Parts: sequence; structure tokens; C-alpha cells
Amino acid sequence: MTLFKRAKAAQSAPSAPTNQASLAELALFTIHDGVIITDAAGTIRYINPAALSMLDLKSINNAIGFDYAILLKIEAKEGRELPDAENLLYQAMRTGQPLDGYQASLIVGNSAKRLPIAISVIPAAANNRIITFRNITRELAEEGEQTEFISTASHEMRTPVASIEGYLSLALNPQTATIDERARGYLESAHAAAKHLGHLFQDLLDVTKLDDGRIRPQFVPVELVGLVKQIADSFIVAANQAGLKYQFGARDNSPAAPAHHLDQVVYGFVDVNFMREIISNLVENAIKYTPEGGAIYVNVRGDGDRALINVTDTGIGISADDISHIFQKFYRADNSDTRTVGGTGLGLYLVKQRVEAMGGRVWAESGFGEGSTFFVSLPRITSAEYEKRMIAVRNANMVKQGGLQ
Ligand code: ADP
Repeated sequence: MTLFKRAKAAQSAPSAPTNQASLAELALFTIHDGVIITDAAGTIRYINPAALSMLDLKSINNAIGFDYAILLKIEAKEGRELPDAENLLYQAMRTGQPLDGYQASLIVGNSAKRLPIAISVIPAAANNRIITFRNITRELAEEGEQTEFISTASHEMRTPVASIEGYLSLALNPQTATIDERARGYLESAHAAAKHLGHLFQDLLDVTKLDDGRIRPQFVPVELVGLVKQIADSFIVAANQAGLKYQFGARDNSPAAPAHHLDQVVYGFVDVNFMREIISNLVENAIKYTPEGGAIYVNVRGDGDRALINVTDTGIGISADDISHIFQKFYRADNSDTRTVGGTGLGLYLVKQRVEAMGGRVWAESGFGEGSTFFVSLPRITSAEYEKRMIAVRNANMVKQGGLQ
């Protein structure tokens, strides 16, 4: 049947609703997205069949009048427990702020089944909230195929690029080859481009590793001030070579500054390799984008239930237009100051990806020509929790060692 004939048939069917309200109801009844409408307190007033089915509920009587949070339970996308402070759905419902396409894992009923979903919350008239959520299993599978393709291609291309780079190095080395001055210029450009390509493939491999599940965060309890200091301090030589001052700790060292800032201990539950990648990328960028004579400051402090890390520089800064894009894949601010600095535009994407996998948030504050501060906020644990988790780690290690004997 042609589209036109089908439309005609639908119009003339005797049971087809015609008024706007019934048509809207028909749409809500038929769509595959789950729709729940609650009042300001979160009590469910409406639920459509798709939502019932995704939540594995038999009838609307098991939903209407219930608190949405009892039925719509979620975990982090990576299958990690989601404390209330990190649960953006709870926050949007509590504050009445909109939420758009938040990806999470839906805990289906009381079963072990998990469904990847994207959730939105739309504040509606009379303080009602409309929650919509859709199953994103297929989208994730397609994304996964794409990621796998990129990662395989990068892996395969890295080897020939390394070989090109190696031969160009040989050609440029006076001990292994003789070339005229004009050829040297061309080969130096080719060498720089081959090196750039090598970095690009390595960065692509690194960003796809988390997306395709080849790596998962390995959470361990750590003291963050010491960890961040150790990673950032490894760039002291590079910073000094670039003619930059480097300082770890509170920037204000005047006697009036509160003393506890200097030796505060801040505990976190993080993946140490992710932390290394995050801090290294941010400090490397601070060095890259700060002209000689500038300074870099790194600090960690506790801020309620969050740990707040900052990497600050006095460099070229980022314009208001660019700042909202810098965490996107391949985005590089294009101006005369950045054009001469090599990069792939993947570093900050990787930082964001790793920070979010640990339940954190990253953002930048800057103005063009005014230096930049990158903030990383991570969930913080108390010293009692740290001790408890350390004991669990030690016990697990003892069991492992015992098992090896
Ligand atoms: P790149 O490899 O280009 O450095 P990133 O993803 O690390 O890629 O950074 C993206 C862009 O953000 C950079 O190209 C640069 O324009 C801007 N940027 C990042 N860090 C800084 C900084 N500390 N100061 C100024 N601009 C920065």
C-alpha cells in the first residue's frame, strides 16, 4: 500500500481518534520511548505502556501513586553504583531543572537485568515533570562497531607510520645519510608530519580503549593530594625547560592564607592510571599553551563531598567561543597562538571521558589572553571510608597471594 493510501485508510477507520487529546494519547500509547509524568514530589501520575514494559511492571496500578525513584532505579553507564550526589536524574527531579539525554543503566525491577537508557526530564506546567527514557542498546552497539573500526585501523596504521618516521630519522641523521640542504627541509617537514600522525593514532587508540570496553576503571582508595602532586611534579623539568615557573599547592602563600590549605589530605576512590592520563594531559597543555616567562599552578583541595583539582596557567587563554567546544573530539582553537603548537585535539576529550568514568566533572575557566584554569571535581571519601576500603584491598591482596602459593 502506498503511503497516501495508508494515510487515507487510517483516516477512514471507524475507531481512529480525531480530537487532539485522543491523538496525543494514541501517540503516547504507541511510541517506544518510556514516558512518566510525576508531580513536583515525584509521585507518578501517568505512565505509558513502553515505560511499563521497560520497568517490567504488569499494570499501571503498580506505578500510579508510587514514588518514581522506587521504580526508576539507575546505575552509572559503566555499571557502577551511583551515589545520589552524582545521580543527575535525582538532581533534575529535585530541582526541577531540565535534563537532556543522560545516559545510564536502568535496573529492571528486582532482577539482575540492566538496560542502557538515555533519560530526559522536562519540567512542565503546574510543577509536573515529564520523564522520557529510551533503550539505547542498538545505538551503543553501532557506536561500538564504529569504535572497533577506528581502533583496529589506528592499530594497523601505527606500524607503517612508525617505520616511515624511523626511515626519515635515518635520512636526516648525518651519520647514516648524505642529503643536500633543500632535501633536508622537505624531509624535516615529512618527519614532523609522520610524528604528528603517530601521535594521532596513539591518541585515537587511547580514546577508543574505554569506549569499546577494553579498559574499565579499576577503582582504588587513594590520597589525592599526594597522587596528583607526584604526577604533576614529573613535569617540573619540562616546565623549567619551557621557561615556566611551576608550583604545587595553594597559590596564596601569604601568612594570611589558611594553613590547612597547605597540608590538607583529600581521599578519593579513583583509577590511578586514569588520574595519570588526566593530570598529564592538563599539565602538558598548560606547558604547551603558556609562553616563556609564565607560570603553572596545580592544587588539590576538599570541597564538601567533592575533591577539587585545578591546573592553572598564565598562558594564552581560551576565548568564550572556543571554551564550550574544547572537550569535543578533534576540536582545536584556531588562532595565531595555537596554530604553531602541535596537537591532535583529542587530549581534552580523553580527559573528559576518563573523569566522567570515575563519576567526576571537568570544566575550564578562561578568557582569551588571560590564562586558563582547568578544574576536575571527583567524588571524595572520608578518612574512615578510606581506611575501610584499604582494609578490603589488603584482604583481597592477601587472598590473591594465598591463592598463588
Ligand atoms: P591539543 O592536542 O590540540 O592540545 P586538546 O584536546 O588537549 O588538544 O585541547 C584542545 C584545544 O583546547 C587546544 O587545541 C587548545 O586550543 C585549547 N587548550 C587546551 N588547553 C589549553 C590551555 N591550557 N590554554 C589555552 N588553550 C588550551
